[in-house]
Amino acid sequence: MIDDLPPLREVIAKHDLAAKKSLGQNFLFDLNLTSRIARTSGSLEGMTVIEVGPGPGGLTRALLAEGAARVVAVERDDRCLAALAEIAARYPGQLDVVAGDALETDWTALLRPGEQARIVANLPYNIGTELLTRWVETEPWPPFFESLTLMFQREVAERIVAGPDKPKDYGRLGVLCNWRCETKIAFDVSPSAFTPPPKVTSSIVRLVPRTAPLPCRTRDLSAVTAAAFGQRRKMLRQSLKALGVDTAKLIAAAGLEETARAETVPVEGFVALANALAELRAR
Ligand code: SAM
Repeated sequence: MIDDLPPLREVIAKHDLAAKKSLGQNFLFDLNLTSRIARTSGSLEGMTVIEVGPGPGGLTRALLAEGAARVVAVERDDRCLAALAEIAARYPGQLDVVAGDALETDWTALLRPGEQARIVANLPYNIGTELLTRWVETEPWPPFFESLTLMFQREVAERIVAGPDKPKDYGRLGVLCNWRCETKIAFDVSPSAFTPPPKVTSSIVRLVPRTAPLPCRTRDLSAVTAAAFGQRRKMLRQSLKALGVDTAKLIAAAGLEETARAETVPVEGFVALANALAELRAR
């Protein structure tokens, strides 16, 4: 028992919250598991947490029970609002529910001046990568969040943490995330933990922003990784042609080999390419 609120199965039945596939709804009912997810983000005492997709509130309850001072939860499904209001009543002044679409949300507007937040969420799988990309591309950097603790399908989690040592998983997402954050898979969650169970295993990933990532512009990094991984089997001298600059000059300025392939180039190599691209385009 983490609180005196009713078990989640009762909450679901009372508010008639049959899971909707279109909203990526796979609910967690085990409060021991949601507490473990909450604790993965570190001690929550006095912290503000942003949660995406609280649903019936299993993770929300764990965040509050673990000591979060304030939880701001953005939920698109209005059917969940009454259940969330019951949690807000149990923790007066600590839970702000925002009825809306996470893809349309201005995150910093949810925070008070100077307030830093952790983001903790069991994300709807259909918008998880899009949200993560936007958070990691946040300007200015260091960002408004202290860390991200997020549930993904295991296969996506592996792409988030991958470097050239994992060539099959290494790609644009890995370059972007590891450029700006330290990344780690914390633990796996089996399909049976969810209602309804998804087809695949999930993983909790933790990302902590680096204070001083190697300097380059996000859009240049995005351009070089799109070109290089767009044709990942090809050598850079071929794949980078898509950028429309002198490829030989670009690769030489970045200190890379023309015959290298995207999946062997480390993050620093892509940052060097991004800066070389900016330089060549400025001429
Ligand atoms: N946090 C709950 C849990 O762990 O049991 C629910 C997680 S469920 C995987 C994803 C939640 O995100 C659902 O409650 C769903 O309604 C909500 N959701 C889906 N799309 C959303 C969007 N665009 N913006 C905000 N919430 C969304």
